[in-house]
Amino acid sequence: MPMIQTSYQSFFVLMDTQVPLLNGNSVSYINLDNAASTPALMHVQKTVDEFLTYYSSVHRGTGFKSQLSTHAYEAARRQVLEFVEADAESFVCIFGKNTTEAVNKLARRFPFQPSKDTVLVSAMEHHSNDLPWRAAARVVHIKLMPDGRLDEQDFDYQLAANAGKVALVAITGASNVTGLINPIHRLARKAHAAGAQIMVDAAQLAPHRKISMGALDDPEHLDFLTMSAHKMYAPFGAGTLVGRKDVFEQGEPDLRGGGEVEIVTLDHVVLSEPPERDEAGSPNTVGAVAMAAAAAMLTQIGMDNVAAHEAELTAYALKQFADIPGLRIYGDANPDNARQRLGVIPINLEGVSHYLLAAILGYEYGIGVRNGCFCAHPYMLFLMGVADEKAKIVRDEIIRGDRREVPGMVRVSFGLYNTIDDVDKLVSALRAVAAQQYKGKYHQNISNGEFIPVGWDINFDKYFSFKSN
Ligand code: PMP
Repeated sequence: MPMIQTSYQSFFVLMDTQVPLLNGNSVSYINLDNAASTPALMHVQKTVDEFLTYYSSVHRGTGFKSQLSTHAYEAARRQVLEFVEADAESFVCIFGKNTTEAVNKLARRFPFQPSKDTVLVSAMEHHSNDLPWRAAARVVHIKLMPDGRLDEQDFDYQLAANAGKVALVAITGASNVTGLINPIHRLARKAHAAGAQIMVDAAQLAPHRKISMGALDDPEHLDFLTMSAHKMYAPFGAGTLVGRKDVFEQGEPDLRGGGEVEIVTLDHVVLSEPPERDEAGSPNTVGAVAMAAAAAMLTQIGMDNVAAHEAELTAYALKQFADIPGLRIYGDANPDNARQRLGVIPINLEGVSHYLLAAILGYEYGIGVRNGCFCAHPYMLFLMGVADEKAKIVRDEIIRGDRREVPGMVRVSFGLYNTIDDVDKLVSALRAVAAQQYKGKYHQNISNGEFIPVGWDINFDKYFSFKSN
């Protein structure tokens, strides 16, 4: 039964963490950097705690705990497959550490042919779904519309212009910069009609929307999907590549070692079947269990409830932002469209460096955001309209070790546990900064661009250290 809530805070680990401010006071931390990483669901923490009492070696151990751990690890695969509606006959869940690793694996494992060696990648991708393809294949970047959306006409054009050569479309489910969502099933239909397969980078989409891989005979099915558990409220170091079993039955694994073979003699190796074939070495069993627990809990909450709650926060934030003098929103700023995008909102305040704005929010308001280029440099330069000459000047400055003038934005990104009150606090902080009412005096570090307030002296060991009490 889905759980409809007005606040989901009680589902998460320690939401009322006091953090120090520049003025010497403490406040309850507000995390608005969920597109980077999310806090843990209580259900995840509880499941991991329970599992640790049984935790032991997986796959070849003979004792009860080993057998139970193997059972839990294999059940975690099934849970993840279920989470994305992937039929276990056709798809495998290969665990790894994150989306970056998963995309790299697919880039090394995908059966490119000399005559079919092209990957269509969009110009809105995170570097993790762009650079691995550049290293493995011929990449064609799909253009964007002026508002940052995928230019689907260019997608159609490139599919046709590279007819017969496109082996794969590798596209993000949703942008980590603008929260814009791509029409993945429509693109899948077009890719399949052109004889290509499709991989969706679901690092951003998976924690916020229901995903369905679909049956292989459905023209709109997805062939591969990547996810990171640390963005899904399960920060225990796991990620996954869900993909077509028939692809992983072929070819050579990218990593060699124990755990992926049936029998080895001095001159002969028999590889295991997928997914073991692609998981050399001891797996991150605890991470996989945590990821599966998050998937189970998100399913129980109901992805429609997740989407509805986050759309409410996003629409509310966009409305409030529109009234703040000098605040610029990139991508889609229309609150009425909040249901069709994720709660990831990139902004800038006129006359205030993105580095400085992020610093003030942290040091003076206890609000965590992220600033910079969000590992999507081409997309950022496009959204900000940075001309090639300026990009070149900045590149030269970075090479010289000076990042002060690197263009960027501040990104606000919501998670399921955020509240309207969190948005109100952010809005009032932004208003204060827009009115130049911040208190600290800040110095910019030349090499990393960050602003540090004068007089800030923090001892992190006071808050966290490895000493036992
Ligand atoms: N793709 C997208 C869209 C992302 O947002 C991210 C993380 N910001 C990644 C890929 C890479 O994920 P990870 O760092 O977990 O490998």
